[in-house]
Amino acid sequence: MKNVLVAGGAGFIGSWLCEELLKQNFRVVCIDNLCTGREQNILHLKQDKNFEFINCDIIKPLPESIGKMDFIFHLASPASPPAYQKLAIETLLVNSNGTLNLLELARKDNARFLFASTSEVYGNPMQHPQKETYWGNVNPNGIRSMYDESKRFAEALCMAYFRKYNIDLRIARIFNTYGPRMRADDGRVISNFINQSLQDEPLTVYGDGKQTRSLCYVSDLVEGLLGLMFEEGIGGEVVNLGNPHERIIFELAEIIRRLTNSKSEISFKELPQDDPERRCPGISKAEKLLNWNPKISLEQGLQKTIEWYKANL
Ligand code: NAD
Ligand code: UDP
Repeated sequence: MKNVLVAGGAGFIGSWLCEELLKQNFRVVCIDNLCTGREQNILHLKQDKNFEFINCDIIKPLPESIGKMDFIFHLASPASPPAYQKLAIETLLVNSNGTLNLLELARKDNARFLFASTSEVYGNPMQHPQKETYWGNVNPNGIRSMYDESKRFAEALCMAYFRKYNIDLRIARIFNTYGPRMRADDGRVISNFINQSLQDEPLTVYGDGKQTRSLCYVSDLVEGLLGLMFEEGIGGEVVNLGNPHERIIFELAEIIRRLTNSKSEISFKELPQDDPERRCPGISKAEKLLNWNPKISLEQGLQKTIEWYKANL
């Protein structure tokens, strides 16, 4: 049985990943300091004898109790703009020191490594759709910089380890992902709109709502992460993972209002600084290398997410 470490495994995406790895017969060690994740996300996994949770901060030296790993997924980082802005220094450190600690573990154990990067490395992009070859348009010291720049630094660190130590690693550039277990209070667009709709509160559309995002359901994303980790012979590759169907935020508000039969009004709020105007992944590399593309439509994914919030609010 192979050993897999999931850093950030008690978070939204990480908990789905741990669950799928257990189904596929891996022994899973989840490490998390619960700064944005929740133990509740992994409670159901604790019954499984192949699952272990270690509460630790990966910015600090890693505990010996982790043991020898065959595969390391690094998903540990605050991910929603309000969370990473509140935890600004922690975000910079988890993507720098935290990534260094995990890369050193991969070097020691000769483990394969996957880093969860982000579409934010493209900043406010000037090319559409965004392909992996695009270098981005990022404000280096703006209010999103603690996230964007630390993810860019982490990518550079990963590639330095790949080039110097030949670590078998892969970088996933994840685009907006949603689904059950997203914190209701994390401030991201889907969690906000669904929770506002369910409570008949005004939907807060930032700016004129004409900005776009491309939204991927979490099970599709997890399938992409697994494909990227377990595909042979693709060390050093950087791959976009996301749903290429681009949506206008105002239309997203209308779809969610309709699916929840909500009486909520739309309330326009100020557009946050440096909010990217358009975002859409070019996924031809993932299609070619991994034979992967998302299968769950926005309406199907939203229905599942709405049901989950109804049951868990
Ligand atoms: P999340 O906040 O739910 O999960 C992140 C997890 O990392 C949390 O459980 C948190 O407690 C943990 N963590 C943070 N700092 C830590 C530290 N110092 N030590 C140990 N654990 C720590 O967010 P998510 O949406 O599941 O995102 C997971 C990863 O995917 C992140 O790296 C994020 O940057 C990346 N990503 C997510 C999206 C998205 O749309 N959800 C998009 C792009 C990239
Ligand atoms: N947004 C919005 N209302 C909200 C939350 C977000 O209009 O209540 C917008 C936000 O301005 C951005 C998009 O929705 O243009 C996606 O925001 P989110 O925070 O989910 O993720 P981002 O892609 O910006 O990291």
